[in-house]
Amino acid sequence: MIDVLVVGGGPAGLATAIACAQRGLSVTVAEPRERPIDKACGEGLMPSAVRRLAGLGVHPKGHVVAGIRYLDSHGQVEALFRRGSGLGVRRTTLHSALADRAGELKIPVLPVRVTEFSQRGSTDEFTAGESGPGVTAAGIRARYLVAADGLHSPIRRACGLDPRPARHVRYGLRQHYLLAPWTSLVEVYWARDSEAYVTPVDEDVVGVAVLGDGRASFESRLAAFPALRERLAGAEPVSSVRGAGPLRQDVAHRTKGRVLLVGDASGYLDALTGEGIGAALSEATALADCLAVARDVRVTCSHARS
Ligand SMILES: Cc1cc2nc3c(=O)[nH]c(=O)nc-3n(C[C@H](O)[C@H](O)[C@H](O)COP(=O)(O)OP(=O)(O)OC[C@H]3O[C@@H](n4cnc5c(N)ncnc54)[C@H](O)[C@@H]3O)c2cc1C
Repeated sequence: MIDVLVVGGGPAGLATAIACAQRGLSVTVAEPRERPIDKACGEGLMPSAVRRLAGLGVHPKGHVVAGIRYLDSHGQVEALFRRGSGLGVRRTTLHSALADRAGELKIPVLPVRVTEFSQRGSTDEFTAGESGPGVTAAGIRARYLVAADGLHSPIRRACGLDPRPARHVRYGLRQHYLLAPWTSLVEVYWARDSEAYVTPVDEDVVGVAVLGDGRASFESRLAAFPALRERLAGAEPVSSVRGAGPLRQDVAHRTKGRVLLVGDASGYLDALTGEGIGAALSEATALADCLAVARDVRVTCSHARS
């Protein structure tokens, strides 16, 4: 039996696996997609997220982000980060850096999609060995299963923890342009029913994410931001349009027995916060700390019994 089976090898899952391995827990990741995994994202890491990544031994290359600027048709306002810098990082770059670190720590990544599991025993049993409490999925027995399987988490659904459908359904789309960043700030453009984020991710690439109510094409969303469209005029798109949604997912409970939710599976933070990945990294570290304490209690109990 291993300590932790992590379902989902995105930022939350890989960060959880790395944090667990750093604490001496045995951990395996199940992720059906090949690396590097891309995703619709604004790709802005806030300073706290950069610090959390460094704590995991992960140092992705990107473009320094010095703060945030908000703009609408009436004006603009901006603020610099007070402590440290953020980082604009392509998702594929971030994923490669996390996957490389997981490889260094010899964390197995199984190419499987997990949709079912069974669990036995309560969370406060400390019995060691194969007969002890645990979760079985994909033929693996683990003391805990961490669901890091994203916004529409199949594991969360199987646990009966899915949120009620949201009344306002928002979607996000992203595309990259070959264009030297004109600022080291993340720019947030406002329109009536939508917003756009521009993040410098390389010396000659900016990422643009647009969000709004209901489904729409990238071009039609961009039309709501004439000043941004002018900036991008003539710049070559260097990625395909990718989408995500519906975005709002309030989750009332983040555990079901020995199944623990992290990252977007545990509830979606509005992309406007720029904290989705940072929150996932914080959860991953806190979860690994708790599991390490549970392991120490288990070891102490089994020593006391023998
Ligand atoms: C438009 C937009 C802009 C955003 N901008 C930012 C931003 O600027 N900064 C920021 O920090 N955050 C931003 N976010 C949020 C951020 O993208 C997410 O919070 C982050 O991707 C969550 O990571 P995750 O690992 O929880 O989920 P994901 O990245 O979705 O990873 C989930 C993984 O689970 C795998 N999986 C799914 N089902 C299974 C299964 N059954 N078995 C095994 N594996 C499975 C998937 O293949 C995937 O690799 C933005 C989001 C959107 C939509």
